[in-house]
Amino acid sequence: MKYYGALEAGGTKMVLSVLDETGTILERATMPTGTPEDTMPGMIAFFQEHPVTALGIGCFGPLDLNPASPTYGCITATPKLPWRHYPIVPAFREALGIPIGLDTDVNGAALAESQLGAAKGLQSCLYVTIGTGVGGGLIIGGRPVHGLTHPELGHMLLAPMPGDPAPEGFCPYHQHCLEGLAAGPAIQKRWGVPAQELPPDHPAWALEADYLAQMCLNAIMAFSPEKIILGGGVMGQAFLLPMIRERTVKLLGGYLSSPVVDNGLEDYIVAPGLGVNSGVMGAYLLAREAEACG
Ligand code: ADP
Ligand code: ZN
Repeated sequence: MKYYGALEAGGTKMVLSVLDETGTILERATMPTGTPEDTMPGMIAFFQEHPVTALGIGCFGPLDLNPASPTYGCITATPKLPWRHYPIVPAFREALGIPIGLDTDVNGAALAESQLGAAKGLQSCLYVTIGTGVGGGLIIGGRPVHGLTHPELGHMLLAPMPGDPAPEGFCPYHQHCLEGLAAGPAIQKRWGVPAQELPPDHPAWALEADYLAQMCLNAIMAFSPEKIILGGGVMGQAFLLPMIRERTVKLLGGYLSSPVVDNGLEDYIVAPGLGVNSGVMGAYLLAREAEACG
C-alpha cells in the first residue's frame, strides 16, 4: 500500500493528513501557522514519522505556479509577511526527497469537487469559499486554471448595494471587492457582530446574498462553468443558497437560455459534494499528480 501526504496550508492553521491510495484519511494533525522557521520543522517531522510517496499542498496565495519560473513553488506577495517569497515546494522537496504538488487551496478544492464531488463528470466548475477570506478555484477542461498567475476571484470588484451601511468595503487593496464586502470579517465589521451570531432574519443576509449573486453572475458570464460550488464558514447559513440562486436568476435578466436557469439554478449553485473534505482531497489529488509526473 502506498501513502500520500496532503497539506492544507492556511493563514491560521496547517492541516496535515496522510491518505492511502484509496483516498481514505488515516492520520491527521493540525498546527498553528507561525513563521516558516516555527512551523516547517514540525510539518517535516510529521511526514518523516509518516512516510509518504508524494505530498500535495493546497496553499494560501499568491503562489508562483509557473513551472518555467526560477521561483516556481514559492509563495509570492502574500500579506502574511513571514511567508512572503517562502520557497515552500523546494523546502519540502529538499527535506523529504519526494515529488511535491502545489496549487492554491481553492484550485485544489475545485479539482477535488470536479473529480470526486459535486461536479464529478463535468469538465468545468468554480469552487468559492466564503470564510475569513474569499477565494475561488476554477477548473476548465478538467484542469485548474493557471495563467498570468492564478485566479484571485475573491478580489473581483462588485457594485456596492444601496442600503449597505458599509458600501466602501474593507479590502486593504481594493476596498469594495468581493472579499472586502462579503467575507466573514467584512460581515462582522459592518454589523459589529460575528457572522454566526446574526439571526436569519437580519438584513445582513439579504445583503450577503446580493453580493454573492453578483459574483455568481460575473463568474457565469466570464467563465461559463458547468457548476458553481459555494463553501466556507459563512455558507454554514444554509438558507443563503436559495437566496443566492434567486438573486442570480434575477441578475441574469433572462439573458442566458439554459435549462439550469429554468430550474432556478437549483442544481447549479450548490454546496460542496465533499462537505468539509474538499481541501484535503484536493491536496491528495495534487500528491497523486505529482507522483505521476515524477
Ligand atoms: P477559514 O476561512 O479561516 O478557513 P472558515 O471558512 O470557517 O475558516 O471561515 C471563518 C469565517 O466564517 C469567520 O469570519 C466566521 O465569522 C464565519 N463563520 C463561521 N461559521 C459561520 C456560520 N455558521 N455562519 C456564518 N458565518 C460563519
Ligand atoms: Zn480585494
